[in-house]
Amino acid sequence: MEIQKEKILEVLGGIRHPETKESIVAMGMVTDIKYREGDLWFGLQFSRPNDPFIQSIRKACFRAVNNKFGDGTLKEGHIQVQVPDMPAKREVLPSVKNIVAVASGKGGVGKSTIAANLAVALSQAGFSVGLIDADVYGPSIPKMFNVEGERPTARSEDGTEWIMPIEKYGVKLLSVGFFVKPEDAVIWRGPMATSALKQLISQGEWGSLDYLLIDLPPGTGDVHLTMVQEVPVTGVVIVSTPQEVALADVIKGINMFAGEKINVPVLGIIENMSWFTPEELPDNKYYIFGRDGCKNLAEKMGIPLLGQIPIVQGIRESGDVGEPVALFPDNSSGKAFHDLAQTVNKALETRNIEMEPTKKVEITTK
Ligand code: ADP
Repeated sequence: MEIQKEKILEVLGGIRHPETKESIVAMGMVTDIKYREGDLWFGLQFSRPNDPFIQSIRKACFRAVNNKFGDGTLKEGHIQVQVPDMPAKREVLPSVKNIVAVASGKGGVGKSTIAANLAVALSQAGFSVGLIDADVYGPSIPKMFNVEGERPTARSEDGTEWIMPIEKYGVKLLSVGFFVKPEDAVIWRGPMATSALKQLISQGEWGSLDYLLIDLPPGTGDVHLTMVQEVPVTGVVIVSTPQEVALADVIKGINMFAGEKINVPVLGIIENMSWFTPEELPDNKYYIFGRDGCKNLAEKMGIPLLGQIPIVQGIRESGDVGEPVALFPDNSSGKAFHDLAQTVNKALETRNIEMEPTKKVEITTK
């Protein structure tokens, strides 16, 4: 018995694409219907190769046709799924050698202070350095570099808007803080925060860099996931105080980055606020947040401890006036950050020798 094309379209027309809620026939997805010697063939055209409903729509077609016209009318392999080739995407940050994320479990542990000083110390060591302040809920980099009032300029080229980073102390800077008032940033919702990060990464005119540091918000959230999908992160450093309550969140962070799904190398932990030494008692160390918390955790997890930075009034003050202490390598705190930069650079070199380049994370729905 001949089955008319119209009848087949009628049956297939009852199947809807779960995303658009439209009939797959109305969407023009059913193509090249052929019915020859009892065998039905047709094509199913999807608009993107990663459409999560390819298999379920295919199965729905089998079921609908075979229920209506009898089992075996439509055989396995007789639906040809057609998908367009993905257009070649512009490679993001092709001239950046190392992308290093600076993360923390909790807020207030000194992550931005470390990121700012690390950036300055690396720049002073002769590397070309960029710093993205992606701490969207509390961008503090503009203040730490004393460029709060500045606004990056933009230019258009071939339909793309490029943002020129602000350059200060030899570091190229972009922060969400340049575009919104800090008091507005705190009410941002996930999608706004993630699209802001995407823009800073892909539209920033970064040029050639040895290092692009990304100062992340505390914790593990949407911004982190967006970052690993947008760029191949070479490695992540995790900042924490030695305090017990901070360490619990460090473990969460490490597990997220090092886990199978994300798989970004954790270069190590940086312990901040390790001890306090009063000026008048230079030989005394007071372990205000506990002693060696990060050191012990690093050992337990088999991760390097990259450095221990003490609590120093000058570190706080230099941050507040927008002159990171790393600008002064003769100062003992400044030197501590220069030593830290050397250790981070070594860890990166080792990582780049021993491991394959990181891949961007592809999020699939299955
Ligand atoms: P986060 O980015 O983790 O929220 P910040 O870098 O903003 O933390 O630091 C929080 C506060 O602690 C800031 O006022 C900063 O100046 C201060 N701070 C950070 N590290 C130190 C340190 N080692 N010694 C003294 N003050 C510090």
